[in-house]
Amino acid sequence: MQHEFPHAVIREAYNLSQHRCQCTDPNCPHKSDDEGRCYQILRWPAHGDNTPDGWHAVHIDPAGPGTISNCQVLCSRCYQYALATGRLTKPAVERRRPVLVPATAGA
Ligand SMILES: [Zn+2]
Ligand SMILES: [Zn+2]
Repeated sequence: MQHEFPHAVIREAYNLSQHRCQCTDPNCPHKSDDEGRCYQILRWPAHGDNTPDGWHAVHIDPAGPGTISNCQVLCSRCYQYALATGRLTKPAVERRRPVLVPATAGA
């Protein structure tokens, strides 16, 4: 039986994800950037939805606690893929990715 995530943990995981799918499974067909991340933008109100911008908070260790260190957020497509393959064992909180600011051209 899994330990449910408290609402605050889900909220924190969502914030830490920078509102992006945290799937980094190299086999997942949904990756959308050159680092192999899915990076699908997730809307908070869509939590639990199975729409393209829906998402789910999942346990990294299925038998682990309902804490932030055991929580990652996946978009609905990656969630379905992970469920289908049993791949729910990726790091929850990835390194913070610096926000890339386009260089301003000219002076
Ligand atoms: Zn995804
Ligand atoms: Zn994925």
